[in-house]
Amino acid sequence: MSSFDLIVIGAGPGGYVCAIRAAQLGLKTAVVEGRETLGGTCLNVGCIPSKALLHATHSLHEAQHNFDKMGLEGAAPTVNWDKMQAYKGDVVGQNTGGIEFLFKKNKVTWIKGWASIPAAGQVKVGDEVHTAKHIVIASGSEPASLPGVEIDEEVIVSSTGALALKQIPKRLAVIGAGVIGLELGSVYARLGAEVTVIEYQDKITPGMDADVQRTLQRILAKQGLNFVLGAAVQGATTAEGGATLNYKLNKTGDEHSLTVDTVLVATGRKPFTAGLGLDTLGVALSPRGQIETDSHYATNISGIYAIGDAIAGPMLAHKAEDEGIAIAEILAGQAGHVNYGIIPGVIYTTPEVASVGATEEALKAEGRAYKVGKFSFMGNARAKAVFQGEGFVKLIADKETDRILGVHLIGPAAGDMVHEICVAMEFGASSEDVARTCHAHPTFSEAVREAALACGSGAIHA
Ligand code: FAD
Repeated sequence: MSSFDLIVIGAGPGGYVCAIRAAQLGLKTAVVEGRETLGGTCLNVGCIPSKALLHATHSLHEAQHNFDKMGLEGAAPTVNWDKMQAYKGDVVGQNTGGIEFLFKKNKVTWIKGWASIPAAGQVKVGDEVHTAKHIVIASGSEPASLPGVEIDEEVIVSSTGALALKQIPKRLAVIGAGVIGLELGSVYARLGAEVTVIEYQDKITPGMDADVQRTLQRILAKQGLNFVLGAAVQGATTAEGGATLNYKLNKTGDEHSLTVDTVLVATGRKPFTAGLGLDTLGVALSPRGQIETDSHYATNISGIYAIGDAIAGPMLAHKAEDEGIAIAEILAGQAGHVNYGIIPGVIYTTPEVASVGATEEALKAEGRAYKVGKFSFMGNARAKAVFQGEGFVKLIADKETDRILGVHLIGPAAGDMVHEICVAMEFGASSEDVARTCHAHPTFSEAVREAALACGSGAIHA
C-alpha cells in the first residue's frame, strides 16, 4: 500500500496532463492505467493514429492528383497497407513512450492495472489498496453502440477497429457524419474504397456553421464520398466477409439496403466508468452516464473529482487536458479555470475545418446583433499554390462593439489558424484589432486578417 496526495484514474490527455501538472506543483502523484500503454484513447486509438493515417493517405492523394500538375512526374506510389499500419504503430509508440518519459521526469508514479474506488480516499488496484487525499477520475469514454448493429471489430467496427483493419475494404459504410466518421471515411476513400456515409440528420457535422457544412460536404463528395442524409439505420446483418445495412429515409419512409465489406459505426462516444464502483460509492451520474461535477470538478462525494470525456462537455482531448491542468491547480490551492466559450473544434479532413465560439445560427436563435466578415481562400495566393483555394474564413463579431464572437474556417491548416482567433477572443479583441495586425505574406493566415477586414471597411483581395 502506498499513500499519495493525488491518485488519478486514467492516463488519457485529461489524466496524464493532470498528473504532470500536479507533480510540478508539488503533489505526490500516482496515475492508475489499465491499458498496456499511457496516453488513453487519444494516443492509442484516437487522435494520434487517425492523424497518422490521414497524413499518409493525404500524401498519397497529393501524389495521385497534384504531383503531375507541379511537374513531379512518374508513377504514383502504391499502398503497402501493412507498412502503413506499422508507421501508424510507430507514431503511436513514440507518443505513448513520450508520456512514460514525462512521468519519470516529473516523478509521477504509474500504477499498472484497473482501479476501483472502495471508499473516498482509497483506490484499489488488484489486491492492493492505495490511499490518497484526492482522487481524480479521468476514465474517458468508449464508442457508443447502435441498436441492431452489433460491433464485432471485424466486419462491423468502431473507430478502434477501423484504425486497424486487416485489409482495405472495397466498400465501406460509415454510420454517422460527425468528425470521426468523416476523418476515417476520408482515409479509406483516399485508399480507393467506395465510401458511403449514412447520417440521421439532414446535414453533416451537426452543430457546425451551416456554410461550413455545405462546403465540406461538396468538397468531400468531389473526393468520392457518397452521402445518404436524413436516413435512420434500422439494423445490419453480416454474412461471409461483409454486411448488409438497412436504412429508412426520414422524409419518405422508403427503406433501402446497402451491402458493403465493412461498416464503421461512428455515432458518438459515451463515458466509460464501468468497474470504478461509482454506484456503491453513490457518485451522481447524469442520465447520459456522465459523472456530475460542480464548476471545480468536484463530484458529490468529498475528495473525488472527475474530468475529461467522463464528464459533460465536448469530448475533445484539449478540453480534457485543460480540465486536467485546472483541477491540478485547484488541488494545489491555485485558481484553476477553463474558458468553455473558447474551445476550438477541428476536423482533420482535407481541407481542414476549424471553429471556435458562436455560430451564426446560435446568435440568430439568441437574437444577438452580429456582423460577418467572410473571405474565400481563392483570394489567398498561398492556398491556391497548394490546390486548396476552396473554402473560406468566416469571422463573426458583435454588431455594436465589434468584439469577436467566433470564427469558422474551412481551408488549409485551418486547425492551426483557428488559434489566432482563440487568443484574440481570450483578450476580448475586436475584428479591427485582428485587421490591424500585420500578417506575414504569403501565409494562409492572411485569410483570417482579410476576413477581419471584411468585418469592417472591406477585404483587399476579395
Ligand atoms: P481517455 O483518453 O479515454 O483516457 C481514459 C483512460 O482511462 C484510458 O486509457 C482507460 O484505459 C483508462 N481507464 C478507464 N477506467 C480505468 C480504470 N478503472 N482503471 C484504470 N484505468 C482506467 N480529440 C481531439 O481533441 N482531437 C482529435 O483529433 C481527436 N480524434 C479522435 C479520433 C478518434 C478515432 C477518437 C476515438 C477520438 C478522438 N478524439 C479527438 C477524442 C479524444 O480522444 C478524447 O476526447 C480524449 O482522449 C479524452 O481524454 P480523457 O483523458 O478524458 O480519456
